[in-house]
Amino acid sequence: MSTESTLIANIGELVTNDPDRSGLGVIRDAALVIEDGRVAWTGPAARAPAADVPFDAGGRAVLPGFVDSHAHLVFAGERAEEFAARMSGRPYAAGGIRTTVERTRAASDDDLRANIRRLLAEMARQGTTTVECKSGYGLTVEQEERAVRIAAEVTDEVTYLGAHVVPAEYQGDTAAYTRLASTDMLAACAPHARWVDVFCEEGAFDADQAREVLQAGIKAGLAPRMHANQLTQGPAVQLAVELDAASADHCTFLSDADVDALASSQTVATLLPGVEFSTRQPYPDARRLLDAGATVALATDCNPGSCYSSSMAFCIAVAVRDMNMTPAEAVWSATAGGAKALRRTDVGHLTPGARADVHVLDAPSHTHLAYRPGVPQTFAVWRAGVQVVREFRSGSGG
Ligand SMILES: [Zn+2]
Repeated sequence: MSTESTLIANIGELVTNDPDRSGLGVIRDAALVIEDGRVAWTGPAARAPAADVPFDAGGRAVLPGFVDSHAHLVFAGERAEEFAARMSGRPYAAGGIRTTVERTRAASDDDLRANIRRLLAEMARQGTTTVECKSGYGLTVEQEERAVRIAAEVTDEVTYLGAHVVPAEYQGDTAAYTRLASTDMLAACAPHARWVDVFCEEGAFDADQAREVLQAGIKAGLAPRMHANQLTQGPAVQLAVELDAASADHCTFLSDADVDALASSQTVATLLPGVEFSTRQPYPDARRLLDAGATVALATDCNPGSCYSSSMAFCIAVAVRDMNMTPAEAVWSATAGGAKALRRTDVGHLTPGARADVHVLDAPSHTHLAYRPGVPQTFAVWRAGVQVVREFRSGSGG
């Protein structure tokens, strides 16, 4: 961590997500000071204090780093052929996960480490500074323990997802696998994890089984979150709210009662539009959730099967174009919303005291994230006050 202070000056539009201001808490013609890894000051450029290192943002927009609150990054191999087949008309089924399980089990620790580090670097280059990472492609005690241990090397937001899918060796005996995931597997994984998650869906785990795993996880000191209502209008969202889960993720098929339950709870509805894009499923109805008063987060669900994209900007563009979110709502959901889905108060905003996760866009406003889809717009990134993505300076050779 640098002990020097940095002054980012000449910011055309500073998105603070300050809850005391409306919407994105935008300050125009702004400056921001980073000190000891934290945001030390924000305000009008004309009143900026002096600092050791100046950085001229050149009128660009500055946002909090993206908080990707849902990703599956401990895996080996890829499934491009499955994607191509699906785009030729074959529907997505949860069983495709087992292909990745086989590849992941066969991979060395260092192969898994190299893959997760590659993906995290890819995310950082796109402005993502906080990443949640799940296990769930090991599905044995040793393999799941290995997955959460390797994830914990690179992020604090580690989720134990032993109950991702029933592995082939437990085919036909989901109850026995649920028991394993709630006992020995959980005990091996809990020391490395913060969260416990279940894929509650037809073809995966039913509500009783999900409850068994989540309650055991809570007893082991983990906090719950859930894969809920991705493929069907099942009982998962209600269970997530009942257990005060930090987040119900997917929320693609919701009843009115589900929407009401989310709106009157602390459980964030995390929408993962990259999945619907990559599986040609209908998008979740973000407008309905927002109008009801629910808190909405956007995340990638980056994984080799149902969505192999690590791009939060892509999620924002789809959410605006096809889920009726405004650009401001989508940007908030990809930053402050993700932080709420992880129950974090130190990230997702740029007010004094926040971790200095700073994303300088090569654009004058946050709207460009949706307005210019598919275009790389990350100019520079600081994570905890350390510059992790350097600005491109033409002719400077670096
Ligand atoms: Zn997922």
